[in-house]
Amino acid sequence: MNASNPLQSETLKLSLQLLRQPSVTPIDHNCQNIMAERLAKHGFEIENMRFEDVDNLWARRGSEGPLFCFAGHTDVVPTGNLEAWGSDPFQPEIRDGKLYGRGSADMKTALAAMVVATERFVSKYPNHKGSIAYLITSDEEGPSINGTVKVIETLEARQEKITWCLVGEPSSTTHLGDIVKNGRRGSLNANLTIKGKQGHVAYPHLAINPIHIASKAIAELCDTVWDHGNEYFPATTFQISNINSGTGATNVVPGTLNTLFNFRYSTEVTAEELKARTLEILDRHGLDYDIEWTLSGLPFLTPVGELVNAAKHAIEKVTGRETQLSTSGGTSDGRFIAPTGAQVLELGVLNATIHQINEHVNVDDLEPLAEIYEEILVQLLAN
Ligand code: ZN
Repeated sequence: MNASNPLQSETLKLSLQLLRQPSVTPIDHNCQNIMAERLAKHGFEIENMRFEDVDNLWARRGSEGPLFCFAGHTDVVPTGNLEAWGSDPFQPEIRDGKLYGRGSADMKTALAAMVVATERFVSKYPNHKGSIAYLITSDEEGPSINGTVKVIETLEARQEKITWCLVGEPSSTTHLGDIVKNGRRGSLNANLTIKGKQGHVAYPHLAINPIHIASKAIAELCDTVWDHGNEYFPATTFQISNINSGTGATNVVPGTLNTLFNFRYSTEVTAEELKARTLEILDRHGLDYDIEWTLSGLPFLTPVGELVNAAKHAIEKVTGRETQLSTSGGTSDGRFIAPTGAQVLELGVLNATIHQINEHVNVDDLEPLAEIYEEILVQLLAN
């Protein structure tokens, strides 16, 4: 690319086309067709997998293993207050070297870079090793029920196995490629109700104050060291997000206390262990309670191997940067792909403005991202 004229960038052109589609989750708004049409011209077989209100794309070039898969999503989060945007979120605009638009960072520019990288790679290596695939959904930002999960179920049922999966989520922090995510922590939620007995504050012997009896157990939960993490994961964390109790009156002992809390956990513990240890603490404090658990993501980890090494080399070759492995951040669809045995890595643009008003990316990062993706294909599939 001519750095002085980013408008010549193929990746930018396709990004603009995708960003003009108002694909607020779970609406794909033709984005997958735009990608599929280009891939079909380069020998990909296209399968549209629609489940209920969610469009999914499975595209594959080649029938042999190993199978390299680009994964991502075309849906975006809602715009929020339109007045607060400097330009229409679905009329992408470049100002001061930055491309503004909803989905510019999360993650339409990565989708564009994948397609451009693939086109260039298959033109240079038409008889490459193995196969290349795309697993693209439009419900990553929503409930994540009819997207990647269902596509993976379909692939598993016909024993189609992904060897290496590159998810285009925005992983970078300060510079393109400074961070890649080779795993994610697990996420476990609890809804806990502690039962007391309502009464008059002047007659506490006739009441049981759930705030008083819960406070020591809650303090112990907050102080507990759940594990120390490991080489890849920080220590497991416990965070209370809500506590509610009380009638609003100053003279009433409330009858119940409700609290919501979350564990972000490493591979050093399991969800079952966290549940058991929590219950042990509650029981030891003699509490009467109801608790409901929701597991919103299992932890996964791709240790250093072919995919991690290919990404490291590619990033260094294109940017001169040494990348760092990280498992921080929220959950992603990688959690549904990793359990099949695939190596999964997330690598994309800077994530500083994702889900925000005036979401944007550096225009100068787009072509290098396509070059990194292409170089990863070269490392793994060139012959
Ligand atoms: Zn995303």
